[in-house]
Amino acid sequence: ATPAALMVGVGRGAQAGILIRGGEILEKAERLTTVVFDKTGTLTRGEPALTDLLPCGHCDHDQALRLAASLEAGSEHPLAEAILRGAKETGIAPCAVQGFEAVPGHGVRGLVDGREVLFGNRRLMEGAGIDVASVGADMERYQADGKTAMLLACDGELAAVIAVADTIKPEALEAVRALRAEGVEVVMLTGDNARTATAIGRALQIDRVIADVLPSDKARVIKELQQAGKVVAMVGDGVNDAPALATADIGIAIGSGSDVAKETGGIILVRSDVRDVVTGIRLSRATMRTIK
Ligand code: ADP
Ligand code: MG
Repeated sequence: ATPAALMVGVGRGAQAGILIRGGEILEKAERLTTVVFDKTGTLTRGEPALTDLLPCGHCDHDQALRLAASLEAGSEHPLAEAILRGAKETGIAPCAVQGFEAVPGHGVRGLVDGREVLFGNRRLMEGAGIDVASVGADMERYQADGKTAMLLACDGELAAVIAVADTIKPEALEAVRALRAEGVEVVMLTGDNARTATAIGRALQIDRVIADVLPSDKARVIKELQQAGKVVAMVGDGVNDAPALATADIGIAIGSGSDVAKETGGIILVRSDVRDVVTGIRLSRATMRTIK
């Protein structure tokens, strides 16, 4: 392709708030078969809100919320903000934590009032040898509604199930539909559990949901799609998404996301509108047509 024509395409993208790092990205975008979206913060607002708290012995409602909020005060995860906001609205103040640890893709842990407290997903509990069977049905009920259900444990015993709900971005459904109309397969990739992810994927009419993926494994999933012959764009916003963005044929970073994601992306969506993924692909295809 002629560099001049490609630069015209790059210039058009820039005018539309789609920053394209180099003409070769336009060439790849034309051949794209698959767009993989990160869920939280990309397809959903990434601002979950506390919706349910079910104490299961050992703790009452306020104690459970105080323990969870105390741990989350040390975390920067969107889920942590949901818990902290929920606690604040109930007038519950977090208390000091010793030995705080954030476990990526799992949750948080530490000592509160001298008690060993864990807060996170099923994986975190199972890793600590805590049996979650007694709350399985409750978790599934929340997850079927697209909520993320987390578990609180205190001194080795389950203390509560806490659920939060994120909101789907209104423009996301339009983006997914338009991509499918372009003949592009749409995949959602998330560290959240399969039930919650499937409920959200269904609402967005997404072809394929890949869930329960640890942050460190997201890049491997992209590589597997490529090995299956797909030309893959990955759309994400978070620090955790950077390796997957770098592995994809095209990494697309949402402008409002982390600096790491933006540094890694081959395309940056300045307006943070996922519909611009479609605009970018259409632009690439139109540019390549003028060259051929
Ligand atoms: P995503 O792919 O949605 O960005 P992550 O990989 O960051 O998700 O996290 C996956 C799962 O791990 C979350 O859905 C949650 O169950 C659990 N988790 C991670 N961090 C936290 C935290 N700070 N507090 C509670 N749970 C957490
Ligand atoms: Mg994320």
